[in-house]
Amino acid sequence: MIVGIDLGTTNSLVAVWRHGNSVLIPNALGQLLTPSVVSLGDQGEVMVGMAARERLSTHPARTASVFKRYMGTNRVITLGNQDFRPEELSALVLRSLKADAEALLGEPVTEAVITVPAYFNDLQRKATKAAGTLAGLEVRRLLTEPTAAALAYGIGLGDEEQYLMIIDLGGGTFDVSLLHCFEGVMEVRATAGDTWLGGEDFVDVIVNAFMVERGEAAGLPPVSQLAPIHGVLRRQAEMLKRRLSDADTAELALSYQGKEITWSLTRDKFELLAEPVLARIRQPIERALRDARVKPETLSQVILAGGATRMPMLRRLIGRLFRRMPLQHINPDEVVGRGAAVSAGLLARSVGLEEIIMTDVAPFTMGINVSERQPDGSRLKGVYMPIIERNTIIPASRVKPVFNIDDNQTAIGIQVYQGESLLVKDNILLGKMSVGCPPAAEGEIQVDVRFTYDTSGLLEVEATVLKTGVTERLLIEGNPGSLTKDEIADRLAKLSKLKLHPRDDTDNAALLARAQRLYEQRLGHVRAVIGDALASFIAALDTQAPDRIRSTREQLRKIVEAHDDESFL
Ligand code: AMP
Repeated sequence: MIVGIDLGTTNSLVAVWRHGNSVLIPNALGQLLTPSVVSLGDQGEVMVGMAARERLSTHPARTASVFKRYMGTNRVITLGNQDFRPEELSALVLRSLKADAEALLGEPVTEAVITVPAYFNDLQRKATKAAGTLAGLEVRRLLTEPTAAALAYGIGLGDEEQYLMIIDLGGGTFDVSLLHCFEGVMEVRATAGDTWLGGEDFVDVIVNAFMVERGEAAGLPPVSQLAPIHGVLRRQAEMLKRRLSDADTAELALSYQGKEITWSLTRDKFELLAEPVLARIRQPIERALRDARVKPETLSQVILAGGATRMPMLRRLIGRLFRRMPLQHINPDEVVGRGAAVSAGLLARSVGLEEIIMTDVAPFTMGINVSERQPDGSRLKGVYMPIIERNTIIPASRVKPVFNIDDNQTAIGIQVYQGESLLVKDNILLGKMSVGCPPAAEGEIQVDVRFTYDTSGLLEVEATVLKTGVTERLLIEGNPGSLTKDEIADRLAKLSKLKLHPRDDTDNAALLARAQRLYEQRLGHVRAVIGDALASFIAALDTQAPDRIRSTREQLRKIVEAHDDESFL
């Protein structure tokens, strides 16, 4: 059985193709979304999903989230006293999803289609594939997330030529992709986005407004102090934000130092406050259209993905920009996972789907530092000269000339930058080199600067002085290190030694983690009540007596639910 997996930054999802439909698979808690969070328990057992997410605040040193951001890098994430690479943490999430699928399907699951962001480079894709291998899954296909979203809507399988835009606003990342579909081929023509923009920024807006209007006066410490009350406030603000997607007004309630603080916010005011954040959505959309040289009216559909696209203000903005309403009838949290299932179904039936993937574009512009003569004869230094522009198909090799700017200059310095700004100081410096220069008048020495960029993120810079034929080289490794076959085998052995938290115990683990979080956040009487019930439950777990565990668990659950709002995904 081939499953489709959306391995997301905040949440992941597994689905299969059955009887002509994509079917989402619930986890052991009965939820369709599994938080992409991993935590190590006190006995070194691995927890994945909701229980792990609850432990982010109670056991931050033993818990990891958002590791998808580091796929394809050498970053090591330490949980307790164990080190993990991002692909190992992803593998633990995949393993948990695999177990959920096996529990539902009643058969081993050994193959998967896994989705990746369209902008993932070769190394990030390799790391995702390695994560699959580490989880015991043969990755039959890495599918880009926008292609998956289109497939979920059944788009792209016919012969009709069309352009689509996929707008994906998740918890912490914003991705825009432009897809070109023709004769069964789906090609990502451009990607743009903002890796630090998402639903969380809208929560910040609410938290800040609350602090100014009510929180400071009520004596709450400044948000920068990260007191436990801020955890409670954030959750309340998150809930308020979600309610405002359906209601015109919603309320936030918080108890602090024995006082009940309530605050209400209207959708109109929220939208006004969120305007600066919403403004950041526009630019990547316009950039993707420009880069792909496609006019908004040429698009046949706009598709929304990611939970934060539920906000009416976002839908209206898209409606205004494109003068049409986006496709939104598939749940935006599920659309990528459903598309992965469609792809798995196509593979199982050996139906061809050709995807021209974006492994092969430069994600940023790369160039060098030059100085530019101004009309009045003066020179402006530190100007950026792009050599390989973003969204150029790679491997690519481009050459541009530079000249000496002074008489009898002895060397020409070349500084290599990445970025999109006119002045190099606003871009990122990647490296420096210098070439010797024979004596000559200004502008007489030509140096050809060649950039060669390959799919593994390696940039080679060659500077050739035409007059002498001397060439200097500089190698810049963008993304050092991916796992070799042997390293994967080593890591596999290590991971298989890790004890996974038993699946049939997930409910206990999630409740335990949630109660512990609530205990840390609350004070006084409420804290004492939670503490008592929690202690009885822990004692019952130690006895391993099923009846006692059941009764103390239900007692604890009742108390937790009375003092905590529903746990949302
Ligand atoms: P994802 O990464 O796709 O799971 O998206 C998660 C983001 O979607 C979080 O920032 C959530 O706050 C946001 N989200 C989920 N449901 C809603 C809703 N009803 N209204 C507004 N934002 C939502």
